Amino acid sequence: MRAEASWAEIDTAALRHNLEKVSQLVPQQPVMAVVKANAYGHELGLVIGALDEVDALAVARVEEGAAARAHGFGGAITVLEGALGHVDLELARQYRLRLVAHNEQQVDQLCDMTAGRLDVWLKIDSGMHRLGVDPGHSKELYQRLSQSQAVRQPPGLMTHFACADEPDNPLTRSQFNLFTEFTGGLAGERSIGNSAAIMAWPQFCQGWLRPGIMLYGISPFADSTGPAHGLQPAMTFRSRLIAVRTVRAGEAVGYASTWSATRDTRIGTAAVGYGDGYPGNLPAMTPVLVGDQPASLAGRVSMDMITIDLGPDSEAGIGDEVTLWGRGLPVETIARACGRIPYELVCGVSQRVPRIAVSS
Ligand SMILES: *Cc1c(COP(=O)(O)O)cnc(C)c1O
Repeated sequence: MRAEASWAEIDTAALRHNLEKVSQLVPQQPVMAVVKANAYGHELGLVIGALDEVDALAVARVEEGAAARAHGFGGAITVLEGALGHVDLELARQYRLRLVAHNEQQVDQLCDMTAGRLDVWLKIDSGMHRLGVDPGHSKELYQRLSQSQAVRQPPGLMTHFACADEPDNPLTRSQFNLFTEFTGGLAGERSIGNSAAIMAWPQFCQGWLRPGIMLYGISPFADSTGPAHGLQPAMTFRSRLIAVRTVRAGEAVGYASTWSATRDTRIGTAAVGYGDGYPGNLPAMTPVLVGDQPASLAGRVSMDMITIDLGPDSEAGIGDEVTLWGRGLPVETIARACGRIPYELVCGVSQRVPRIAVSS
């Protein structure tokens, strides 16, 4: 029996399956697997080990790129936020990281460098208004990067969709058209599509694909789950029962006595709580699995524990495994129950939870 109170099983076969799915949806385009924020909480080293055939990676920060190198990844690594200063530029050179230049200051810094041969993407703001240069200035900035001694030629061209997860939203088409208009005739690689675009707008996904959430088997859409799209959940978050008792009808369970039994029932206490990244605002009735049996939260989530209504006839006992989300219980369902998105839940699994590689 495993000794951990809580743990996250990371299914390496599921990760590989989901990567394969990307190439089925948009064939013959290169893929940079997005592994920012510790691979969406799945643990960077495990994910890099599983996706050993991927063309390239994308991270948010230079330090994350350096960490990917430390895990032995030899392919291209794009830093989506680019360099935040001269130290980052030096690290990018040292670790061979491909920088996104998304504002004029970053272009200036790259043009001031006299050596380096850095691979660079120029990011254009086609309508999300978060990162990227104004399309009207993009040709001029592209020309400046094209003349920089420090930039390997030609620079790539990138943009990002704001609403690709809404299959009827006209913004995606207009973003694509704007990007195409302002980059027409310029040499260089292209990169456009995140998971939602790969799944809902494959016709717009030219060049390097940037799948994140779908690699982890999670749907980018609000109203569906990964398995409904043929994806397999990569993370199964588990704990175990450390106490079981009978509670009589009318007796309350947990902090502030917010939940009371309406009938005599068995209550199991599992060793997981918001200190592990299980959302603290999940309401009573949130589903969990005890073994393979459905059950539900009773009372508030504590820092290190939850209490579960096992039902009057349950024979569950101390040591039995509890699934919080993953295989058999979509993280999308749990995210909806607490008004958050599944990205937040997987990223929020805390450091004290060991990630354990499994292969389904
Ligand atoms: C995070 C990110 C992605 C991946 O998005 P998913 O929705 O997880 O597929 C792609 N591109 C950029 C610029 C990002 O920041």
